[in-house]
Amino acid sequence: MGKRKAARKPTGPKKDKTTLPKTFECLFCSRNDAVQVKLDQKNGMGYLNCKVCNMRFESTINSLTAPVDLYHDWIDANDEVNFPQQKKKRVEDRPPASDEED
Ligand SMILES: [Zn+2]
Repeated sequence: MGKRKAARKPTGPKKDKTTLPKTFECLFCSRNDAVQVKLDQKNGMGYLNCKVCNMRFESTINSLTAPVDLYHDWIDANDEVNFPQQKKKRVEDRPPASDEED
């Protein structure tokens, strides 16, 4: 009497879904997954660099900073450099002038 082999379930490569994305598209060379982000929580610094065009950026971080946050900081910083005229103007919300009524 031979034992029946239990049908094996196909096991694909396990992906750790809890891992946050750490690679992003580069603003300069437009390569996907070319920009790598490193967060140095001990020193409160985040480092970003593109492995394709060697673009670099660094910024201060805190314990809540995620790699994507640093990436957005980089985008913001480059927006200011590339488009100084498009700097966000502070628009004061003035209440509508009320005409004096009788
Ligand atoms: Zn690049």
